[in-house]
Amino acid sequence: MTSRPGASKVGERAQEAAVEYRLARNAVVREVKAGRRMKEDVCDAHPELLRAARNIGKTTGEDCPICEETTTVEVTYVFGARLPPGGRCPGTKTELNRLRRREEPVLCYDVEVCPQCAWHHLTRKYPAGGRTPRAKRTRESST
Ligand SMILES: [Zn+2]
Repeated sequence: MTSRPGASKVGERAQEAAVEYRLARNAVVREVKAGRRMKEDVCDAHPELLRAARNIGKTTGEDCPICEETTTVEVTYVFGARLPPGGRCPGTKTELNRLRRREEPVLCYDVEVCPQCAWHHLTRKYPAGGRTPRAKRTRESST
């Protein structure tokens, strides 16, 4: 692998590798609306996720696609070395930014949550951190 000059900015790399789950999410919503999937199956957010949503969730400005009674919020989970196995859920933007700028690479998961009916779905996944441009780049196959 050759290193491309000028393309070593973490932000760019992160953007390249980000995965959007919007289509999958919309497909789930359609299934529920069509009655092919139980509401209970998709509105089963863990109590801890709901608490995080109520306390630190950022509003998406969009109505919940399931109950349509309230706007959903977004919660970010960060996974990586020296973080809890279940991921860290930063309570403030400052903490989130600090996690994203760690030397060790981290993986961030944005999750859409409805505090009303407990609907939840992964919105996007993206790598961050890893400020070691000259270290050997290990390519991990992310599945
Ligand atoms: Zn809802």
